[in-house]
Amino acid sequence: MNIEAIYEEAGALLKGHFLLSSGNHSGFYLQSAKVLENPKTCEKLSKALADMIRAANIEASLVCAPALGGVIAGYELARALGARSIFAERENGVMTLRRGFAVAKGQRVIVCEDIITTGGSAMETADLIEAHGGVVAAFAALANRGFCRREGGINADASCKLDANVPLFALADFAFPVYAPDRCPLCAAHGKPIKPGSRPTSSAPQSEDR
Ligand code: ZN
Repeated sequence: MNIEAIYEEAGALLKGHFLLSSGNHSGFYLQSAKVLENPKTCEKLSKALADMIRAANIEASLVCAPALGGVIAGYELARALGARSIFAERENGVMTLRRGFAVAKGQRVIVCEDIITTGGSAMETADLIEAHGGVVAAFAALANRGFCRREGGINADASCKLDANVPLFALADFAFPVYAPDRCPLCAAHGKPIKPGSRPTSSAPQSEDR
């Protein structure tokens, strides 16, 4: 399966000259919610992710996703694994389980995101699961931005916040070059960068913020 082609076809992989929320520039931008717009695409990707997790003999009866970005990917992964699906959300800035969601003591849980950037929200969710007595069996994401090391992928960057002792499963690495504004080769060729999501026709740029 050509993951990059699927993302590009869905309008989830933008190419051009972009201003990221970090202030850096890039020739690529992932708008990962776009690949989840089509349930059939999401189902196909989630099944492939579930196959990778099963092939590694990882067992889990619960998938927990950090809201908002991870909810759909987590739900579809749970369906593909035959597991239950819950999500964590921020209350006064702190990741919390609400709505009656619960984790059984010793329950094996996969923390699932749509995309792992540095893994901050996923790691907070993993800490929350452990605080509730659960065991984090794996991290999962449809796409990996390339800062963390997925099973079979490129090496982790120092900015990765995930627990290195817990495996990360993702379908592909999207490790784009990122440039400081004063060293961006795209500025010379293309002028000012576009901030994705600043135009009313596109949705909010959540992916690069996490
Ligand atoms: Zn630039």
